[in-house]
Amino acid sequence: KDFRNNVKPNWCPGCGDFSVQAAIQRAAANVGVVPEELAVISGIGCSGRISGYINSYGFHGIHGRSLPIAQGVKMANRDLTVIASGGDGDGFAIGMGHTIHAIRRNIDVTYIVMDNQIYGLTKGQTSPRSEMGFKTKSTPGGSIESALGVMELAIASGGSFIAQSFSSDLKELTSLIEQGIQHKGFSLINVFSPCVTFNKINTYDWFKENLVSLSDIEGYNPHDRLQAMNTLMENNGLVTGLIYQNKEKPSYESLVQGFKEEPLSAQDLQLEEEQFDKLMAEFM
Ligand code: SF4
Repeated sequence: KDFRNNVKPNWCPGCGDFSVQAAIQRAAANVGVVPEELAVISGIGCSGRISGYINSYGFHGIHGRSLPIAQGVKMANRDLTVIASGGDGDGFAIGMGHTIHAIRRNIDVTYIVMDNQIYGLTKGQTSPRSEMGFKTKSTPGGSIESALGVMELAIASGGSFIAQSFSSDLKELTSLIEQGIQHKGFSLINVFSPCVTFNKINTYDWFKENLVSLSDIEGYNPHDRLQAMNTLMENNGLVTGLIYQNKEKPSYESLVQGFKEEPLSAQDLQLEEEQFDKLMAEFM
C-alpha cells in the first residue's frame, strides 16, 4: 500500500509544497508505517491542503490549530504516527502559542512547516518569517518588523528534535522526516518551500545561494545545544540538516500517569446514562 490517493493538488506549478508532500509519503513508507497507522493533521493556508493529498487519516483543521488537534489525536490513540503540517503563517503567527507549548511538552508528534516567508493563500502578505524591509501589499514600504528566529526559539524552549530543510533537497528532507517520525518526542522540521507566485525574493535560486548545509560545517554535533544555537545565530538561521536532537528528554506520553495499556480509542467507553449525567455535571 502506498500513500498516494487520486486527489490532484491544486498548488501552483513549481510550488515547493509538492516536494514536501512527496517527502512525507516516502518517509512514512521507508519507516514501515502503513496508511491505517498514519494521521496527517493540517492547518489553514495553501500548505494546509496537504492532509487531503495523502492516503492516510487526515484532518484539515482551523487556522493555527493543527497542533492542538494533532496532540489530541496522539493522546487518544498513541499507536498512530501523527504528523501535523501547515505554513509559517499558520504555525508561527496565529498558531505560535501552540507551537511553543507543543515543543516544550515533547509529545510524540512530527510537525512539518512549509515556510515560504509569505501568506500565499491570501495572495501575498508579509508573514512572521519575512525579513525586515520585505515589500508586499500589506507592507508596501517594506516590513518594519524583524523575522522570527523559529529554530532559535525552539532550542530555547526545550525542543528535543529541531531540523530544517529545503524542498528542493528531497533526499535530505525525506531522511529528516524519517528521523522525526522515529524520534520519541516532538519533532519540528521547518522546510523552506518557495512560493513561486507571490514571493519573488526568497526564490529557489535565493535559497541555493544562501543556505548552509550543516554537513559542510566541520565537527558539527547535533547533540550540542550551545553549538546549535551559535551556528544558527552565525548564519541568520539559514542552515539545513539536523540542528539539534536530545534523545534523553522523555516524551509527554511516557510521563502521563494512569495510561491504560490500550489507547483510549480502543477502550469500551460506553457509559450508563447516570454516569454520563454525572460526568457532564462536573463540567457545568
Ligand atoms: Fe504555493 Fe504560493 Fe501558489 Fe500557494 S500561492 S500554491 S504557496 S506557489
